[in-house]
Amino acid sequence: MRIVVDHDKCSGLGLCEAEAPDLFEVQDDGSLVVLDDSPGSEQIEIARAACEACPTEALTLVES
Ligand code: SF4
Repeated sequence: MRIVVDHDKCSGLGLCEAEAPDLFEVQDDGSLVVLDDSPGSEQIEIARAACEACPTEALTLVES
């Protein structure tokens, strides 16, 4: 699975980082950095929870 970010939709609120701090990091300027866009199987459920937590639907999990 791969995490895809629509940066046009991301508003830098950081709910994804709160759910999955190992995968996402919001910078001081509000931009989002994906620390690991290809999470291993042990992190898939965390990644899914982070994607679902995003209020602007900026995150998508796609099959890689
Ligand atoms: S939760 Fe969504 S809007 Fe907020 S920083 Fe993460 S991707 Fe961006």
